[in-house]
Amino acid sequence: MAIQWFPGHMNKARKDITERLKEIDVVIELLDARLPASSANPMLARMAKGKPRLMILNKQDLADPAITQQWLAWYNAKPHTQALGMDAGERAPAQKLVAACRELAPNRGGLEKPLRVLICGIPNVGKSTLINSMSSRKIAKTGNMPGVTKNEQRIILADDFELFDTPGMLWPKIEVEEGGYNLAASGAVGRNAMDEEEVTLELLKYLLVHYAPELSARYKLDDVEGRQDWQVLEMIGRKRGAVLSGGRINMQKAAEIVLTDFRDGQVGRITLERPDEWLAWEKRAKAI
Ligand code: GDP
Repeated sequence: MAIQWFPGHMNKARKDITERLKEIDVVIELLDARLPASSANPMLARMAKGKPRLMILNKQDLADPAITQQWLAWYNAKPHTQALGMDAGERAPAQKLVAACRELAPNRGGLEKPLRVLICGIPNVGKSTLINSMSSRKIAKTGNMPGVTKNEQRIILADDFELFDTPGMLWPKIEVEEGGYNLAASGAVGRNAMDEEEVTLELLKYLLVHYAPELSARYKLDDVEGRQDWQVLEMIGRKRGAVLSGGRINMQKAAEIVLTDFRDGQVGRITLERPDEWLAWEKRAKAI
């Protein structure tokens, strides 16, 4: 089963964003640093074509730092694009974000016409956390402001800098199977839309290739080399007491343990995709 999931209000979000984009100088896309490509939105990229873009690799505290560097270099090499890593521990997120946007649109802004920036991101990527940490008392009431829909938030980050947050979201159409699993593992997909055991087996398969020492250390497993994903899930289930009557392993329970640990960063700082892997996955998906 591949993951296919669509949160509601997609069309409304698309309309709102298209409308807002007309006046926007820079588009910020918040990505999950553990799965930058899977959490990116190709539809947004098409809609914002030609606009300068700031890609924020958020939750970098959970991601593998060396791979985050690879992704930052990958995005920074694209035209009109800048990328930076961020997480909730960032001391001055607003300053960082404002500086990057000013650099991307040096000829825009000013007190007459502030620099206008739109921030987008898939659910659970940390958008509310980031906005709250930047705004405190600065959220403007938008209810009776012309040109700002009543659901929209406008956050004034500097005298000549406005950040727009359009509610509702664009969910990426999942074309790369691995991307669907990575989104599910990260916690972005609703629980009812996924089979946790299947998602965990895919996760373990990846961890066995790239993060076997971390996996062994977390679950005190001696010998994971050459093991299959399901064997490792059984080993974890046994270690953690996820055992049914008759001694069978409760694979569902074991899967929940692994997913929760992964999401909380308990297995270590892990990234589920690398630029070269992503290109290969994409190529294969297109060939099918
Ligand atoms: P939104 O759906 O994009 O608005 O996401 P939220 O801001 O509600 O965050 C989703 C979850 O991720 C919450 O449990 C946050 O505490 C957590 N979170 C947000 N930012 C970070 C971060 O930088 N690092 C870590 N480890 N967790 C984060």
